[in-house]
Amino acid sequence: MPLVTLLDPATAFLSQNPIPMTIAGRAHTGAAGIGDVFDPATGEVIARVSLANATDVDTAVKAAHAAFPAWAALPVRERAVKIQRFADLLQKNFEVLAQLESLDVGKAIAAARGFDVPFGIACFRYFADLSVNIARDVPLPIAGIEARQHRAPYGVCGFIFPWNFPLTLLCWGIGPALAAGNTVVIKVSEVTPLASLYLAKLAHEAGLPPGVLNVLVGTGAACGQPIAEHPLVKRMSFTGSTTVGKLIGEICGRRLIPAKLELGGKGAAVIFDDVDVGATAAKLASALSLNTGQNCCMATRWFVQENIHDAFVSAVSAELARIKIGPGLDESTQMGPLASAEHRERVRGYYRKGLDGGARAIPAENPFISGNGYFVRPHLLSGTDDNICFREEVFGPTAFVVKFRDEDEAVRRVNAVPYGLANSIWTSDLVRADRVATQLVAGNNWINAHNVFSYGLPYGGVNLSGVGGGVNSPEAYLDYLRPTTIARPL
Ligand code: NAD
Repeated sequence: MPLVTLLDPATAFLSQNPIPMTIAGRAHTGAAGIGDVFDPATGEVIARVSLANATDVDTAVKAAHAAFPAWAALPVRERAVKIQRFADLLQKNFEVLAQLESLDVGKAIAAARGFDVPFGIACFRYFADLSVNIARDVPLPIAGIEARQHRAPYGVCGFIFPWNFPLTLLCWGIGPALAAGNTVVIKVSEVTPLASLYLAKLAHEAGLPPGVLNVLVGTGAACGQPIAEHPLVKRMSFTGSTTVGKLIGEICGRRLIPAKLELGGKGAAVIFDDVDVGATAAKLASALSLNTGQNCCMATRWFVQENIHDAFVSAVSAELARIKIGPGLDESTQMGPLASAEHRERVRGYYRKGLDGGARAIPAENPFISGNGYFVRPHLLSGTDDNICFREEVFGPTAFVVKFRDEDEAVRRVNAVPYGLANSIWTSDLVRADRVATQLVAGNNWINAHNVFSYGLPYGGVNLSGVGGGVNSPEAYLDYLRPTTIARPL
């Protein structure tokens, strides 16, 4: 099938050399040179982007700082209207954003159109609506003291995002911060910056005041770290690996500013023997291939009750073999390539170490497809719980399958990793499902489904998977407002 033809605005955007960043509503060329952006389906350069260093960060933070008083002082309803107009313009540019995201990350265009872009846009609408319905001043019923809690935005909030769901995660992060009246400085991943840079351009066209939303691209050391360290940044939000998250947490700890850390995961699916084997296999195969397995909340360890283990593995193998692999921009593609050459080597390294550690690959053939694109077939590994691929986040289309005998054993083994992001429990016994869900230590435990997202449904991690609040909920909005108690003894 021919690839989707890029719309003219997407082609014009990509032809800039380099594509600029956005500071104070204006195109900004960074001081750190130019970076290449690659098509994961071919390995070819598709764009060149300007890169930022600490000097550019300083310019962006000062622009956000200057924009803060007027943005914060807007009546909540007026700010919500501006955010809705921004969402309207994103909606008008829906297909351009979907094409850029698909091309850049390698993800199936159907997924970009069906989830990444619409769900991202909906985030701005959700928090704009929420902001007009949540009181900023709450009277406190205390005997002898007239008191209220007043909530005010922090000021400049810094954001650092990963490469796997660049557009959606950016919207999840900044949606509540902007609606609360903060201004934002964002560092997007240098691996997949395109749709975020396009969004920044639209923010200005939509009438967000200059300086309210600033988007930079750069390496972690040159651009990410200076954001967290900048004295005018009052709050940080980081989405990415646990290793870098700890570093950002340390910087924020030293500066005593709040940090929201959304980190890696090693989620499980617990499959009891009373499931419909075929239907469950189909759903988990689909979850495994979502975004080519580059998904923090993926079910990466599958615990299958022993008496259906072989039937389940056979059913899921048949499902995985049917998944259509191809370039993201091919309409028929169900699973695209991995996002970068570097990441393909990481996934391949885990695969080799997993086999060296005694795991068995299902199917046995090498899943890495030779050629210039970063393609890999979805596959399973089986073995023991001490295998590296059972314990560590691989971040590719691979699940580690093990047998279990009873509920208690499953709970114990699921909880034996230091992560705590997302699990799923599969059974027709909903009482058991609920019992197990309450015992699994994770931010999210889903029943008879994996990847359950909705606005109003809090999403976040515990242990090595994150700390500081999570996203997508009213609590996430309140996180971007600092409380002040105002009290007068009567
Ligand atoms: P990463 O930690 O390598 O990078 C994330 C971001 O941090 C990038 O923008 C990167 O440039 C920047 N960065 C790197 N070093 C830095 C430093 N020293 N200082 C400041 N910034 C720095 O992660 P990644 O490989 O881009 O993304 C994959 C990881 O993200 C996985 O672990 C995945 O589970 C996690 N993730 C978590 C969630 C969640 O919601 N919990 C969502 C998506 C991805």
